[in-house]
Amino acid sequence: MTAQTTKNYIQHVPTYIDEKNRDHQALLDVMRETVLYFDRWGLVRQANLRAKNWLPDIQVAGLTFIELLPQWDDPAERQRELMQVIRSGLPVWGSKERAFEDGGERWYSVDKIPTTNEASDVVGVMLVMSDVTESVLRERALRESESRYKAYIANSAEAIWRYDLCPPIDINIPVDDQVNQIIERAVLSECNDRLAWLYGLKFAHELLGQSVLRKGSVKHQQDLDFFVRNGYKFENRESHRTLGTGKRMYLQTNAIGIVENGYLIRAWGTTRDVTENKRYLERLEYLANHDPLTALPNRALLYRRIDEYLEKRSPDQLMALMLIDLDRFKEINDTLGHLAGDKVLKQLGPRLEAELGITPGIIARLGGDEFAICLPQVESREHAVALAQRFFKSICQVFTIEGFQTEISASIGISLCPDQASDVSTLMRFADVAMYHAKTRLQGVAVYNSEHDPNSPKRLSLMGALGRAIREGELTLFFQPKVDLNEHALYGFEALIRWNHPELGFIPPSEFVPIAEMSNMIAPLTRWVLEESIRYCKQWLEQGVCVNVAINLSARNLMDENIIDDLKTMLDYYNVPGEALELEITESAIMSDPARAQIAIERINALGVRFAIDDYGTGYSSLAYLKRLPVQTLKIDLSFVRTMMDNEQDRIIVNSTINLAHNLGLQVVAEGVETQAIYNELTALGCDLVQGYHVAKPMPGSEIESWIREDHWELRCQAELRQNCGSRVTD
Ligand code: C2E
Ligand code: MG
Ligand code: MG
Repeated sequence: MTAQTTKNYIQHVPTYIDEKNRDHQALLDVMRETVLYFDRWGLVRQANLRAKNWLPDIQVAGLTFIELLPQWDDPAERQRELMQVIRSGLPVWGSKERAFEDGGERWYSVDKIPTTNEASDVVGVMLVMSDVTESVLRERALRESESRYKAYIANSAEAIWRYDLCPPIDINIPVDDQVNQIIERAVLSECNDRLAWLYGLKFAHELLGQSVLRKGSVKHQQDLDFFVRNGYKFENRESHRTLGTGKRMYLQTNAIGIVENGYLIRAWGTTRDVTENKRYLERLEYLANHDPLTALPNRALLYRRIDEYLEKRSPDQLMALMLIDLDRFKEINDTLGHLAGDKVLKQLGPRLEAELGITPGIIARLGGDEFAICLPQVESREHAVALAQRFFKSICQVFTIEGFQTEISASIGISLCPDQASDVSTLMRFADVAMYHAKTRLQGVAVYNSEHDPNSPKRLSLMGALGRAIREGELTLFFQPKVDLNEHALYGFEALIRWNHPELGFIPPSEFVPIAEMSNMIAPLTRWVLEESIRYCKQWLEQGVCVNVAINLSARNLMDENIIDDLKTMLDYYNVPGEALELEITESAIMSDPARAQIAIERINALGVRFAIDDYGTGYSSLAYLKRLPVQTLKIDLSFVRTMMDNEQDRIIVNSTINLAHNLGLQVVAEGVETQAIYNELTALGCDLVQGYHVAKPMPGSEIESWIREDHWELRCQAELRQNCGSRVTD
């Protein structure tokens, strides 16, 4: 029934108010509640002012509850309850009833009070209704939010907890006392199952009532100390627990203490299991610090570790940094494929680690075929070298890859701290210089030496000055004779460069040639030596002195294709036959890139120019291998020759080298012949040529002609040269 129809219906019922109750009307009208009085037949007899205001357009008298309040929730049931009160005479207090008004729900608290006459018969019922909508809705919202909160806590992935402090703690007492009191008084009063789970239990109630330290939720006293000093809070404070399985669980805690009137009364907090996060971060960190192929630490980690070593180093502690570069690793990649190359690198890590054993240190892969080892504590320079030799040997062991066996070698450079440098970048640079030196000399292991460093201050200043020396004629060429032992005749000269520095005076080639070799300066320097030698050669040929001139080449010169064209141009320009020249190159220079060296030597040979292996015996290469190259001459290093009369071993080496070289069809020159005895011995051993102070020291080109004349030297000119020199040769 709608409000409108109800209104019309009521209008036809005459208002009836019990005369006897007229006195009560005034009383009812002042009540804040809505009051309706029903007679024993369940019809409204009386309504207070508030009820009339509530139902302004309705003549309430004579209506049933159903007719009067159809908007009530289940009005028929309400009417029945009302009649029940009349029948039983028992009141019903504060029943919460719902009505739907203006499209919304409203709640009323309704008292149903039976009224009686003098004979105690129930004659009616009074409905006292008060609108409690607001409090009902508020209560409901509260209940909902509480259940939401409970669900949130129960289902939270974080452990949520509350410790109460009983009695509360005075926050003005010293921190240590506060910490002690927290330990004594804090009791876990509330938590979710998640907290129990973190401690290996199932339900929250298993933990409740425990103290703060016993279960280790805030494990360390320091944590509590921090909590107090930090204004009674933790923000993302990390801790860890070791589980029964031995694994570590990482936790992160946020907490806040509640302080009231200067007393800490409780603390709320959340604790998260961040183990997975932590492991993920650890993994990321691992990847950032390790080489994925070999699993060895990478450059970044190496540098950090060296920094740590440097920081902790005691003043007299010697530290060694080794830089390892594999030799001809590219060949393995090129011939066996990159996968095989990767396998070699993978096998190398464990080998180096096994060799390192328990010695403190770090092995890192820097990239490509470069590795580094830093040993924070070595006994001496010699000890560092011995350790490096051990690493070297382990690298040189055979590698087996998919049934193939392959060998590789390496060059190791060592720098020492504090003897040579005390910071990472200088130590690295020095080790690199030493490594490069070891590589060019095929030395295996080399310790840094500023003499080999292209960037040492002395070298840098020499480097600048050398450019000027080449341009401004500070260089001169000296010549040292070579004598044929068979005929006791002059065979030719070796051109040896000299630098007369305006301020530093005479600088030996052993000091400035390596500097030039380390920069591009070696190209103009060699070009100058070649031209100067050819110019002298031309001059001597014109004077009828048909001799061979030997020029020293560096490894880098062999790699420089322009030099071959330049050489041809110079020979043509000065009209000097190629046979008048011989180029000397050390075995290590050839071995640093044998394939390219071979091509270069063949092209130079094609100009008629001969080739000699210089300083033979100081490298590692076998004579049989060298013979595969188109070289014609072998120069036995002076270190064997000078001592051959005193050292039987050296004499044997010289002797066997001569025999072996002859068997391979090579001409043999002995350099460093300082005495007649050596000269005689070499003659007896069948050596072809000698060079040394005993014959003559190197002398300026301008003195050669008079030296030949004064010493009455016969010239022993090779057949090809004689042919080419034609009429200019004096026989
Ligand atoms: P090297 O080519 O082995 O030259 C022989 C060295 O031995 C020369 O030293 C020579 O003076 C020295 N010598 C010769 N006979 C004797 C002797 O009886 N006793 C002793 N103790 N020494 C003797 P030098 O002129 O100081 O040259 C040293 C090195 O410098 C040369 O060794 C060579 O490797 C290099 N060099 C010299 N000139 C040039 C050049 O124009 N270009 C290049 N690339 N290197 C050069
Ligand atoms: Mg030489
Ligand atoms: Mg030599």
